[in-house]
Amino acid sequence: MSSKINIAIDGHSSCGKSTIAKSIAVKYNMNYIDSGAMYRAFTLYCLDNKIINNQSIDHTKLTNYINDIKIDFSFNNKYGVSKTILNNINVEDKIRSVEVTKNVSIISAVQIIRKKLIALQQEFTKNNNVVMDGRDIGSKVMPNADLKFFLTAKAEIRAQRRYEELSSKGLNVSYKNVLKNLNLRDKHDISRSINPLIITKNAIVIDNTNLSLNEQDEIIFSKIDKKLKYENNY
Ligand code: C5P
Repeated sequence: MSSKINIAIDGHSSCGKSTIAKSIAVKYNMNYIDSGAMYRAFTLYCLDNKIINNQSIDHTKLTNYINDIKIDFSFNNKYGVSKTILNNINVEDKIRSVEVTKNVSIISAVQIIRKKLIALQQEFTKNNNVVMDGRDIGSKVMPNADLKFFLTAKAEIRAQRRYEELSSKGLNVSYKNVLKNLNLRDKHDISRSINPLIITKNAIVIDNTNLSLNEQDEIIFSKIDKKLKYENNY
């Protein structure tokens, strides 16, 4: 079945947005864009170049450096592998560090940064066939997306899942700190004045607190199948 549609997935931190977005990309042969990875790459650059220090931004330095920051993202949907490229270097692993995670919501609240990254994300959506996850995809990046999902789950459940994921990778984190960071990021994302995380009117809200991955896949895939049938006039 051809899938020339765009799908937006928004939601709270660590509720499995990228997992479902990748599954959609593989199943429907779509291009996956992880918009959060772009904010993370930007944050890594700002940390490495001391544009952000002790969670405070040097705005003069940011303005001077912003045009030197080149970010790209690609996803191989045969192997299910993402690549986030910062100035020609693959930073996919580095951008998942605790330090980047701690600073990213401060960076993502800055207007000139959002403007630059939204323009880049919109470039990717021009020819349709994109599934993108983030916080403002259905509201700002792809307001005309054919399908919009908003994912959420209880904070404690999200923190537990994230804690298990990080621990299994050998990272030394505590559940308490994971929960604290997650609540803080949610708070920043919801309350920032520019493009806050919102549930758009036409979004399908999915609370996966009590859903297995398979159950969630089934719900989401059936909505996509229905949309595709409609688009293809079956
Ligand atoms: O999705 P992920 O958790 O990797 O995103 C990292 C951070 O980037 C989020 O906490 C949020 O502050 C920011 N973000 C954003 N807008 C997006 C995607 C991510 O502000 N579209």
